[in-house]
Amino acid sequence: MTRAMTSEAPFLEIPDPKTLADEVLLALKYRVGKGTTVATQYDWLTASIKVVRDRIVDHWMQATQEAYAQQEKRVYYLSLEFLIGRLMRDAFSNLGLMDNMREALSSLGVDLDLIAALEPDAALGNGGLGRLAACFMESMATVDIPAHGYGIRYANGMFRQEIHDGWQVELPETWLDHGNSWEFERRERSFEVGFGGSVESITSKDGRLERHVWKPTEHVLAVAYDTPVVGWRAKRVNTLRLWSGMPIDPILLDKFNAGDHIGALAESNKADALSRVLYPADSHKAGQELRLRQEYFFSTASLQDILQRHLSQYGDLQSLPDKAAIHLNDTHPAIAVPELMRLLMDVHGMDFDLAWSITRRTFGYTNHTLLPEALESWPVPLFERLLPRHMQIVYAINAEVLLEARASDQFSGEQISRISLIQENGDRRVRMGNLAFVGSHSINGVSALHTELMKQTVFADLHKLYPDRINNKTNGITPRRWLIQCNPGLTALTREAIGDRFMDDIDAIKGLDAFADDAAFREKFAAVKRANKVRLANLVADRLGIKVDPSALFDIQVKRIHEYKRQLLNILEAIALYDQIRSHPERDWMPRVKFFGGKAAPSYHNAKLIIKLANDVAKVINRDPAVRGLLKVVFVPNYNVSLAEIMMPAADLSEQISTAGMEASGTGNMKFALNGALTIGTLDGANVEIKECVGDDNIFIFGLTTAEVAERRGNGYNPRSVIEGSPELAQAVAAVSSGVFSPDDPERYRELINGLYQSDWFMVAADFDAYADAQRAVDAVWRNSPDWYAKAIRNVARVGWFSSDRTIRQYAKEIWNVPV
Ligand SMILES: *Cc1c(COP(=O)(O)O)cnc(C)c1O
Repeated sequence: MTRAMTSEAPFLEIPDPKTLADEVLLALKYRVGKGTTVATQYDWLTASIKVVRDRIVDHWMQATQEAYAQQEKRVYYLSLEFLIGRLMRDAFSNLGLMDNMREALSSLGVDLDLIAALEPDAALGNGGLGRLAACFMESMATVDIPAHGYGIRYANGMFRQEIHDGWQVELPETWLDHGNSWEFERRERSFEVGFGGSVESITSKDGRLERHVWKPTEHVLAVAYDTPVVGWRAKRVNTLRLWSGMPIDPILLDKFNAGDHIGALAESNKADALSRVLYPADSHKAGQELRLRQEYFFSTASLQDILQRHLSQYGDLQSLPDKAAIHLNDTHPAIAVPELMRLLMDVHGMDFDLAWSITRRTFGYTNHTLLPEALESWPVPLFERLLPRHMQIVYAINAEVLLEARASDQFSGEQISRISLIQENGDRRVRMGNLAFVGSHSINGVSALHTELMKQTVFADLHKLYPDRINNKTNGITPRRWLIQCNPGLTALTREAIGDRFMDDIDAIKGLDAFADDAAFREKFAAVKRANKVRLANLVADRLGIKVDPSALFDIQVKRIHEYKRQLLNILEAIALYDQIRSHPERDWMPRVKFFGGKAAPSYHNAKLIIKLANDVAKVINRDPAVRGLLKVVFVPNYNVSLAEIMMPAADLSEQISTAGMEASGTGNMKFALNGALTIGTLDGANVEIKECVGDDNIFIFGLTTAEVAERRGNGYNPRSVIEGSPELAQAVAAVSSGVFSPDDPERYRELINGLYQSDWFMVAADFDAYADAQRAVDAVWRNSPDWYAKAIRNVARVGWFSSDRTIRQYAKEIWNVPV
């Protein structure tokens, strides 16, 4: 046995390859029930996971016992999404087992990379919000905070995307087909969840109202499934507890025996539906009843679990805010606010004031978007029918808040109506953002700009009423997955240059800055980048049959497809460049490959059309001999965490080009920069802070600012005149609308382009020339390769601050009040 490398690191025993190989063989025999001669690759994967999981469980028990014995305050992170990705490599890496496990498996004739690629990619999230929750889980374990993540164990997570004839096709992702080797089913840890019915008031003999009792008509069971989450060097292991819906058996049996077979099955399906599928819309509210049911289902199960744990340890709920910080990741779990009130009042007998005080001191809420189409609200009639008691409590909370607002004497009638939890104009709706805000002691945005905009826009009035509540916590990413694990080449090079300290303390990566001017180091850095690009080129050749040259500039835009993220701007620029290359063949063009990837919500027409356009444009450009390979366009299907782990390390240029004011933070921008890509981007979200960290010379900023966007929109922006005033843009737009890229259906993009002419809400035309100029500035730097790599190295060295460890420490100190 050897000890982990640094003396400050916790003791971590690293077994030798022989020991690990023996453990894998035992696991294969006793856990999988197979011998080596019949074992499939998948069996080897299962055995390997069991071996590493056993080791994690040892640390898990220890951490759980300590949290109990020390009476530590716990963090509960409620999130409807956890975009986890694969876990095995992460676990090997965090336990320091990667090399020895590779050798152990190799001695058994098994290739670690091959079986790792068979692990299902757990995609229980749409995009950035879900990935943030996953990074936070890893960071909370790493910085040693006792935490539980709570969510839903969707049987079908994010859909698998295929591209057929350029169109997105959605297929179910059946990640549980072979079972899930990581999880522990906890049948005994199950809670009843009710829906519908009515509320009874119980009065005492003298006619005083004593309490309310909700009598739901529907009942289902939420059953817990636990996945251990291990931090760096197994500092701590925390729990991700995901709920699965099940029918409550006796009731079904009654129904069945009474002859209502269909009724019994319907009940069973209803329970099943709660954890059947993730809603696939990102930055857009999913307004269906089933969604509200999912939100309540996981919120109440989590709260019942939390209260039970608290009561069994402390015996009394008054101390809840001292021992539990419950965090709401966006408004999806905002129903937890009235649900905690209900549990405290109706089940545990507290009065409103005490329950309200405990509730507000316990919850914190993170806002993730200002887009109006993403702000959740539910029609009052639906809310009332599904959750009648919660509707009463929402009204009671609202009365309290409006009383306070009126008493403060600083609000007009209109402002009061904006503070209200109920939207009264049009159909009456419950505003979940306002509910989360008033029920929490802390409300945070996810980048400095976003937080400022929150204060000025959606929460302006609530901010005036409660001026101490809004604070900023700029997002982060875990450097374990997004550097150490996904980019072993850069990790090894960095260790060689500055030692290992950055692996325990990412701030130490600053040490690389000095190497930006070291020609020998730059060459090694370029070689690592090239190897990562070859890996991506091979993937693209294998999957798509497209050949790309690894010495070309790899320009990558991967993220959800959304109009505000402006993939269309990037595509139009590709078309303009294509035109320029053909009209000026004499110029010294720098070869470039533009990669796109990302999923569109199945119901988002324009986003799906943009995917088709990217593919149509790729087809024409990639086949045109006049381009001489100077430009290629590639749409890589099924963007997910595993694909991101290959694309981030291979990027030279990171596209972060959202309309200013519309991207709350972004985290893709951080992953790219940490892997040595330069950013071309707008002053939006965390790009603003990335620019401050890397310096103006090491990033390509272009386009309208947030204030300028607002000004243009306010002052009668005329996109037509902008398009007509830009020959390159006019040409590109004309080519698209006239069917140059869609000869089989020349009308295909007519409406998309009409939208640009008519309103161009996302300012594609307004930013086009500035963007194209910035791209030519990129070419100029790329031409001077030493300069390029110096900038790339400075990016790696200067973005350590965007570690989710830093973000989590800030949450711990400033929101949760837990020691770090
Ligand atoms: C990081 C990440 C995102 C978020 O990307 P943005 O560019 O910040 O929108 C989305 N999907 C996956 C798979 C990711 O890894």
